[in-house]
Amino acid sequence: MYAKVIVDITHEKLDKVFEYRIPSELEGVLQVGMEVIVPFGNGNRETNGYVIGISETCEYDEGKVKEILRLAEKRLAIEGKLVALAGWMKENYGGTMIQSLKTVLPIKREEQQKIKRYVRLCLSQEEGRAKLEEYLKKNQRARVRALAALLDNGVLEYEFLIKKLNVSREVLRALEDQGVAQIESEHVFRNPIKDRKQDWKPVDYTEEQQNAIDRFREDYLKGEQKTYLLYGVTGSGKTEVYMEMIARVIRDGKQAIVLIPEIALTYQTVMRFYKRFGNRISILNSRMSNGERYDQMMRAKESGIDVMIGPRSALFTPFPNLGLIVIDEEHEPTYKSEQIPRYHARETAIARAKLEGASVVLGSATPSLEAFYRAEQGEYEMLILRERSKKQALPEVHTIDLREELKAGNRSIISRKLHELIEDRLEKRQQTILFINRRGYAGFISCRSCGHVVKCPHCDVSMTSHKGGKLVCHYCGYEEQEHAVCPECGSKHIGGFRAGTQQIEELIKQEFPQARVLRMDMDTTKEKDGHEKILETFANEEADILIGTQMIVKGHDFPNVTLVGILAADLSLYADDYRAGERTFQLLTQAAGRAGRGREKGEVVIQTYSPEHYAIQTAAAQTYEAFYEEEIAYRKLMGYPPAEQLLALLVAGEDEKLVETACEYLKKYAERVNSNWVGVIGPASPYVGKVNDVYRKVIYFKHARYEVLTDLKDKLEQYIEVNSGFTKLRIQFDFNPMNIF
Ligand code: ADP
Ligand code: ZN
Ligand code: ZN
Repeated sequence: MYAKVIVDITHEKLDKVFEYRIPSELEGVLQVGMEVIVPFGNGNRETNGYVIGISETCEYDEGKVKEILRLAEKRLAIEGKLVALAGWMKENYGGTMIQSLKTVLPIKREEQQKIKRYVRLCLSQEEGRAKLEEYLKKNQRARVRALAALLDNGVLEYEFLIKKLNVSREVLRALEDQGVAQIESEHVFRNPIKDRKQDWKPVDYTEEQQNAIDRFREDYLKGEQKTYLLYGVTGSGKTEVYMEMIARVIRDGKQAIVLIPEIALTYQTVMRFYKRFGNRISILNSRMSNGERYDQMMRAKESGIDVMIGPRSALFTPFPNLGLIVIDEEHEPTYKSEQIPRYHARETAIARAKLEGASVVLGSATPSLEAFYRAEQGEYEMLILRERSKKQALPEVHTIDLREELKAGNRSIISRKLHELIEDRLEKRQQTILFINRRGYAGFISCRSCGHVVKCPHCDVSMTSHKGGKLVCHYCGYEEQEHAVCPECGSKHIGGFRAGTQQIEELIKQEFPQARVLRMDMDTTKEKDGHEKILETFANEEADILIGTQMIVKGHDFPNVTLVGILAADLSLYADDYRAGERTFQLLTQAAGRAGRGREKGEVVIQTYSPEHYAIQTAAAQTYEAFYEEEIAYRKLMGYPPAEQLLALLVAGEDEKLVETACEYLKKYAERVNSNWVGVIGPASPYVGKVNDVYRKVIYFKHARYEVLTDLKDKLEQYIEVNSGFTKLRIQFDFNPMNIF
């Protein structure tokens, strides 16, 4: 057996994983993440390293492989486990070891760490009084002031002595030298959570919640660490379930990480955790300074907290005894990093949990295809909540065919049905949310008469319109001329599809002058807390209609919202991406889930040009499983993830010719190292083929097995490293990319 070892970061060249033979006495004992002592370099100097992988075969010359000397004696440092995780990330996502280490280790803060110092009396009262007499005799007034105060209080703040009692630093040092007092310091960590009330009351769990909690507890008590998929409709009480599971591991002195998409990380969400766990929680978010973030990491390391809540990067919280990682809204694309290493938090959380003996809970009302597929295959354990916790009915959904609206002479983006319902809500003084689906590109071409969308004949994704009247497939590079009339029905109403929040706001104000309207998009939320302020105003019912992009579909409960209008359900459907159907289903379901959270039943209007599309139909019927069946069949047919794995190879450089030649070589090389390679697509030009004079190309590789792709990545990395021709280019890998380039 052989082990892959990363040699201690402070010493040698980092960017390599070294292989060592596992001595027989360590076989079966040695595990990934353990710290070992290995002989290193020409002198075989004893060096610490971390095991990041174990295998039966060795890639190096077997005759030259050295043997691990022994296990390191001290307990595995927290950083050690994170270093091992970094090694795993480098192996699985590409890039250098340094890039991975920078991702997992908290950055040192730039500013001076805030330290609070105290002066403590070391003498008994009797001894102290004797000393005081002595100082009085010598007329050492500063010492008298300091000692008298210490005799009264025992401990005083250093600053107090200096500033209020006018005692100099030299005097305090002298007291310390004479053994009279002692200066102590402690780190002061800024606490981002100000509120201090804690009024949590136990909840009566529904039967489904209780079942989920029990299943977790039974496995946990057996010492089994699994990955669970908590699939529960919106409002089914997933957060309550997470909190109960967290409480279970905390009781054993373990800690938990809760990942929440930044956009949903609102005051309301944090307060729910605070009410239950009080000061033992902390948060991370992107608005905090480096210093504040570093403080939170250190509080975690020094056991000052039990629960860390935050977006993707909170996954690397250095807890000494991690017991559970929760990923809420696990389907969110923000869990995938756009920087090297382009890791996915879901997979990385599972890898970290394995290293540390922790469990993972993935939660969603609309699970990613990946998670649901793995749960179906038995790789994850499925926990299901089918009912809303307060038994509220799901909203009634109307699907409006915009082609029919056009035929009936209504050219407005607001259908007649939606108009009527908005009016009704204004009369009843109930609230409305209008959601504009802006995710995905507006680059696709569709027919407003028949709904036809121009797609690539090879890849079944939408073609994107480029300058010069060309339509391009971003997967395979296939091109064709733009159409003057619809190839399906001959209508002239064919073209790009555009609708902005601002235009909608103007339109609504015209059509409903009596309504109080709020708009939430990138523009109106630029300032700090802009996002929170708009949501607060709406929650306080100071507005009737809230217009927004996907930003508004999460985080808040608005009990008085009884109508949700989805203006252009198609926009995300025809993004040029194999995940378009999935994204559309998720957005529509979540938007619909905003309606009728209070006592009144809700209604939802979905406006679309493609009412027959399965993503729209299943979202309207609110049946995730029906959607999943259709979608997974499509993925299997086309060989897209999760049925098969996809590796994107991105090549960028100033010299267009060089980028093209490099792509040719890389593709040829890939075909050579894997002779029966079938799944090579491209090279194609990404959406923006040239940015700031940098040309970009992308090649996709498909295979059923992930290991085949990581192996290909390793080989390509070596090939790139030894060929000087590639040095002027920037080459990156992206596994199962979230966006198309
Ligand atoms: P989800 O995360 O699944 O959308 P939440 O955990 O946010 O659901 O729960 C929705 C609402 O229902 C919250 O206000 C929560 O406090 C409440 N809730 C959850 N479980 C129960 C329960 N068993 N009894 C009463 N209320 C509950
Ligand atoms: Zn048409
Ligand atoms: Zn194509």
